[in-house]
Amino acid sequence: MRRAEVAIIATPYMGNLVPAVEFATRLINHHPDRISVAILTISMPQMPLIEDYIQSRTSIEHIRFIQIPPVDSPPSDQYNSRIEFTSIYIGNHKPIVKQTLKTLSTSVPLAGLFVDMFCTSMIDVANDLNIPCYLFFASPAAYLGFVLHLTTLPANESVDSANELIVPSYAKPIPSNTLPTFCIKKDEFGYSRFVSHALRYKETKGIIVNTFQELEPYSIDSLSSSYMDLPPIYPVGPIIDHVGPAKWHSNRSRHEKTIEWLDHQPELSVVFLCFGSMGSLTPVQVREIAKGLERAGYRFLWALREPAKENLKLPNDYEHLDESLFPDGFIDRTAEIGLICGWVPQVSVLAHKAIGGFVSHCGWNSILESISYSVPIATWPLYAEQQLNAFEMARELGLSVEIRLDSRDKGGDLVLAEDVERGIRELMNGGDGKLREKVKEMSEMSKKALMENGSSFRAMEDLINILLSNV
Ligand code: UDP
Repeated sequence: MRRAEVAIIATPYMGNLVPAVEFATRLINHHPDRISVAILTISMPQMPLIEDYIQSRTSIEHIRFIQIPPVDSPPSDQYNSRIEFTSIYIGNHKPIVKQTLKTLSTSVPLAGLFVDMFCTSMIDVANDLNIPCYLFFASPAAYLGFVLHLTTLPANESVDSANELIVPSYAKPIPSNTLPTFCIKKDEFGYSRFVSHALRYKETKGIIVNTFQELEPYSIDSLSSSYMDLPPIYPVGPIIDHVGPAKWHSNRSRHEKTIEWLDHQPELSVVFLCFGSMGSLTPVQVREIAKGLERAGYRFLWALREPAKENLKLPNDYEHLDESLFPDGFIDRTAEIGLICGWVPQVSVLAHKAIGGFVSHCGWNSILESISYSVPIATWPLYAEQQLNAFEMARELGLSVEIRLDSRDKGGDLVLAEDVERGIRELMNGGDGKLREKVKEMSEMSKKALMENGSSFRAMEDLINILLSNV
């Protein structure tokens, strides 16, 4: 039987590329003899971890990685936010991506090109070459509805001035203080870029969302209703890389020590704090967390990274942890109960039986990972759409404790030690008493969704049938 080939192009951010590659493996595993995938990778000098990650994935059967030759970075007067830089930089790869896809499709016709939320410029390439184009959306269905809703608002309407915003993909009105930073400081954070990407989502032949029906029934149903006039929605998640950085990160020996430390802690005793691939905290915020942790008195594992020194760069692990960052004597006093580290193998940590709760920035991959391993979250959003994810998890779905819903890395208020202490206590005590149980139930549903005849399995089957019919 003839094999259909699809191509995928994703933004070179950890939170976008990793689920896109996992999606590729899921496509292949669903029908091992029918599909193969070409993943076109774009390098970004500011994202060195991405190269290590790609190297570790190059030997998956039926997936080939094709490195797109780099183009120059746009001059600094062309952008004033990460999203603008990224969108222009990716868009500048269009001619070379077109050439690459043209060459690919001379040997075998492509059944589809999958682009992600910031790669919509590649829809033009798919149109030029007559390749059906699909969107792979690595954030929740609720947020997909949110950005699509923004496209319906008059260009000069200020979404942040209303007390709350009614968005059809959320059951409850969204309080204005939980809007993403790009809605509040529109010019500084590239609001119009988010809208112009979202405007193009409808041009695709289908939207694949990394979620599952049982987690976001309200949002998925709202997207599928006719008023939106969207292409078919395929909730195929949770798509998670269960091996994670344990396989590819250069600091694996230190990671092993972290896991060994966890091996010595009692079951469900450790609170884990981690703020995503781009998250870092100011020194004054670090001190408040330390005070809150000490007052709460739980064992802790804290992934702490130093704010980037240059614009667009990512935070780094501290070379030497300077004790003056913390309250006097904090390191000595907590030596028996706490471990502070840099980049962690997050999935391996969440899978460890010692972990009892997760203070998270609420990136969508982190949320899906925590659900998958039944670890309740306390919300501490920082950037991107995380305030909305925190709102959804805590208020809409009742699956998280709130530390804050409105915290932000840029221009946010300080989260005080008493909020940290309260949130951690609530988290580790299991919220309202039922939280741990609820998260466990959702975890079981996430596994069922992926099993034969589960909701995500069926969505994947529908998608693959369409892809096969395209060639
Ligand atoms: N991650 C990790 N170790 C870290 C920080 C992040 O393994 O110290 C992984 C995490 O498991 C997740 C991804 O990086 O898979 C982050 O994606 P998410 O969507 O949660 O947040 P983003 O980094 O995109 O804001």
